[in-house]
Amino acid sequence: MLEVKGLSAAYGQHPSLNEVSLSVAQGEIVVILGANGAGKSTLLRAIAGICEGEVSGEIRLGADALTGLSPDQIVEKGVVLVPEGRGIFGDLAVKENLLLGAYPARARHGERENLDRVLGLFPTLRERQGQVARTMSGGEQQMLAIGRAMMSAPEILMLDEPSLGLSPLLCKELFQNLAQVRSLGIGVLLVEQNAKQSLAIADRGYLLENTRIVHEDTAARLAGDPAVQKAYLGAGGQRASVPATPAPDAAPAPSPPAVAARPQPQRSADQQAGLSITDLVAKAARQSASAPSHAPSDASATANRLASDRLTVVVKDIEEAAKAARSRPAHAAKPAAVRTPAPHPQQAARTPVIEVYRRPRVEVYRRRPSGQLERE
Ligand code: ATP
Repeated sequence: MLEVKGLSAAYGQHPSLNEVSLSVAQGEIVVILGANGAGKSTLLRAIAGICEGEVSGEIRLGADALTGLSPDQIVEKGVVLVPEGRGIFGDLAVKENLLLGAYPARARHGERENLDRVLGLFPTLRERQGQVARTMSGGEQQMLAIGRAMMSAPEILMLDEPSLGLSPLLCKELFQNLAQVRSLGIGVLLVEQNAKQSLAIADRGYLLENTRIVHEDTAARLAGDPAVQKAYLGAGGQRASVPATPAPDAAPAPSPPAVAARPQPQRSADQQAGLSITDLVAKAARQSASAPSHAPSDASATANRLASDRLTVVVKDIEEAAKAARSRPAHAAKPAAVRTPAPHPQQAARTPVIEVYRRPRVEVYRRRPSGQLERE
């Protein structure tokens, strides 16, 4: 059991964590929800021993005190962090990254069993053991980062925003993987902006606001709490603060620090809403249908309908091409070209320009036993 009591952290005069207490048991997923700048990353970094600020309080793993230990000693005790941004070794192969994760003495004797366990958990990594890590997709790199952390045979796995930048499909896969990690008896402490999916797999959760824990409950009750829904699950529009339930003797919460929140990496609209291209087009069509009418002429109504038909065909083609690409094994033939219907003569002047993002050509490298990189 990981236990944190009265943990505080400050960067110079700026407090970033105030008397935070929490626990994570073996085989339990605990999620920390909070706004930008609330102190979530600081909390994980303080537990992992890599917080640049001044840290005080108590951190224990079972009978072992972790407070004041160096980061490598903390990993050696069984607590490991997958930081935001993953931190994999991009120029090393997948398997090399994984084996480096087994560097702590606690993991060395069970390296082979651990590797089998990780490759069983992430079959993609088994297929890509020789691939240079930086050539993997974002989702695969995230799996590698988690796999490498698992190679240290942790009792507690901490993850900072693992779903950041992943598509809705990959997010779903990632959260399923975390549920599997829990089934191995590992405790998971998860910091996430994706409140909906993280609460769906978590056992318990804490709300961190302005450096303090203001609420804790089971994940199911948090997900059903109207205040949490409003603040973190997008219900009711504007983001709102979750009312704190302080202990009777608790000091009044400080006003928010006068420091501008750091910009959050952008997620695409469909990532945030979990909508497919078709959903987005349908939504746009509904919006345009409900927009105030300016009594368009018959000619412009026909032109609009033609544009809409044309858009639907193109979108359908894009979706089919994407579906085919997903089901096609790597190195398979080139994707079928997207069909572009001939413009209607009336329509030629106002044909919508649809930017189609094309991924750059993928180059796969393998590292030879001599250490040289070889392009496939
Ligand atoms: P986000 O969701 O945006 O990542 P967070 O809840 O993880 O936010 P932290 O990264 O823990 O927030 O930051 C908490 C506060 O501490 C912020 O005001 C931030 O500016 C400040 N802070 C974090 N790291 C440092 C640092 N190395 N030096 C100075 N201030 C820092």
